[in-house]
Amino acid sequence: MRLIHRFPHKKVSARALFVLILSALVLTSLSVSAQDSAATETHGIVVANMDRAVKPGDDFFHYANGAWIKRADIPGDRSYVGIWDSLIDLSRKRTAGLIEEAAKSNAPAGSNTRKIADLYHSYMDEAAIEARGLAPLQPHLDAINAIRDKRELARALGEDLRADVDPLNNTNFHTSNLFGLWVAPGFNDSEHYAAYLLQGGLELPDREYYLADSESMRDVRTKYQAHVSAMLRLAKFSDRDVRAQRVVELEHAIAEKHISLADNDDIHKANNVWTQADFAAKAPGLDWAEYFRGAGLSGQTSFIVWQPTAFAGESALVASTALETWKDWMAYHLVEEYAGVLPKALADERFAFFGKTLNGTPEQSPRWERGVGLTSGVLGDAVGQLYVQRYFSAEAKAQAQAMVADIIAAFRRRIDALPWMDAATKAEAQAKLTTLYVGIGYPETWRDYSAFEIKADDIFGNLWRGGLFGYHREVGRLGHAVDRKEWCMFPQTVNAVNLPLQNALNFPAAILQPPFFDPQAPAAVNYGAVGSIIGHEISHTFDSEGSAFDSKGGVRNWWKPADLEHFNAATAKLAAQYDTYKPFPDLALNGKQTLAENIADVAGISAAYDGYRAAAAGKTESHQEGFSSDQQFFLAFAGNWRSKERDAALRQDVMTDGHSPDEYRASTVRNVDAWYAAFDVQPGDRLYLAPGDRVRIW
Ligand SMILES: [Zn+2]
Repeated sequence: MRLIHRFPHKKVSARALFVLILSALVLTSLSVSAQDSAATETHGIVVANMDRAVKPGDDFFHYANGAWIKRADIPGDRSYVGIWDSLIDLSRKRTAGLIEEAAKSNAPAGSNTRKIADLYHSYMDEAAIEARGLAPLQPHLDAINAIRDKRELARALGEDLRADVDPLNNTNFHTSNLFGLWVAPGFNDSEHYAAYLLQGGLELPDREYYLADSESMRDVRTKYQAHVSAMLRLAKFSDRDVRAQRVVELEHAIAEKHISLADNDDIHKANNVWTQADFAAKAPGLDWAEYFRGAGLSGQTSFIVWQPTAFAGESALVASTALETWKDWMAYHLVEEYAGVLPKALADERFAFFGKTLNGTPEQSPRWERGVGLTSGVLGDAVGQLYVQRYFSAEAKAQAQAMVADIIAAFRRRIDALPWMDAATKAEAQAKLTTLYVGIGYPETWRDYSAFEIKADDIFGNLWRGGLFGYHREVGRLGHAVDRKEWCMFPQTVNAVNLPLQNALNFPAAILQPPFFDPQAPAAVNYGAVGSIIGHEISHTFDSEGSAFDSKGGVRNWWKPADLEHFNAATAKLAAQYDTYKPFPDLALNGKQTLAENIADVAGISAAYDGYRAAAAGKTESHQEGFSSDQQFFLAFAGNWRSKERDAALRQDVMTDGHSPDEYRASTVRNVDAWYAAFDVQPGDRLYLAPGDRVRIW
């Protein structure tokens, strides 16, 4: 998982731009009470969040966050509340304000502001959507209906190909089209953009929903087939029960050909270069020449096929399954993908299944909020440009960039001092730090939307054109030189991302906000909070995970076998440390499962601390509320993990997540010598480790 934060228990796959928006229409409101409001008024640590009755050496997480935890309520329909929710809430309110201003501004035709306004209006005009009924679908349904043979089918399937998957950066493996395209630096030539093709064809999130033999999945499948039938009824199809059964059977057959999510994560299994001719030989069935013609890719000589067995299987299904079944599958997928912008009866039916049944979301968020989410996703850079003009100054950017430079310098010193790493490997790690691009706040160049036509009274057409606009933009880059500074996140997104093929990181403006980052806060607080997160991500670029990609983003393992051996020996002690944590009497953390992330946590806080000390050298110590700078640094770090989670959800995390639960991430401090001095931690305190037992990896 390359996003830095997995939002707990939101099992909606993160979908790329266009499809993301359609699925956002079923997400619930994330609004929570502003429990962090104090943090936005104070610059620096918030003493009111601490529980000073707790001894820091015994339980640093509760010492730093205890009072907040006592105050916080987990909303009834959710399993978790924390800083991330408040930041999402803040970013959403700001984005909504900007879009509403744009909507009222009467900006000149063709400008980005006008596009934002027109897109938002077109979604909000429910009366017009009802009045138009199914008319926007009709030409597309007619085209499907007119398909006479498998050759025309292949062409139509090709015309539906979109750039809607992203297996490495935003980790989205899902498209309901037959296949999905991802344009990114090549596995075998990272200097140029290559065409990656991924399996697709399912509406449900993953093959397991079709294949798992559990009570709950059987129940989902029964309800899904009823839902398909209901959608076909609302779209005025005859024989809808028969058609629904055929569609679900076809999807089941496709699911059987798909590979699992775990196998999808292995890039070495994904690096399969196929020429156009290879498709017919290795995956017979689909008329590939016609498919690529439909997709506008006849001139593309080679592709990287992520899941060859799925391509062979799905292509064979095109040949073996009746044409009428494929046509029903196409028609249903079209209706489903656009239901959120069709008359209410369809939108409600979609939400009833994908929102309520599948995700347990009791209620749909208000329409304006969905409109904001849609606009912010479809015109992400246009909205992002307004966002940073208002909320992220050039000074804030410069300050954060200086912090990054200090942390990188700290890593350089640490790598040079490593006793276990081979000299040649160290040189490559240093080279990787030299070419690393750390994007702060917003992209270097903004996406140009001038070729994207948006009409104030045509939401269906706007989204249709949006999908094509994005697709043509990606296809147009194939074979061109890679822009390593290109972003894959919008400034208003509360997250951060590691782009291994570009050797780059993106930290959007919306995550560079209090309590993570505040230009007016003392440096100690910023380095402890977001500095540690930046350090965590940087360390992934040269750790066992980053060892698969070289300084130019090429796929090449640059570690020596001896390095890996030494690394494994050095990290075993950290795994053992986390094995001792027991959130429940009958359930301990699995130190191996969480090892890579725990290593990055230790690396992140250590490099951020070094960077902070270097930056503070020669400056006067700034006390806040009686806390020294070092104390503020560690309190801010522990504040990153301020959250509260229900027991059942915590159990699930302990069993499945690669990250340790928040409480134990805060305990990383016990591996840093300076923490002992800062809080006078002594032998006998529960978190105390003898100096020889403190783990230092980088
Ligand atoms: Zn990580």
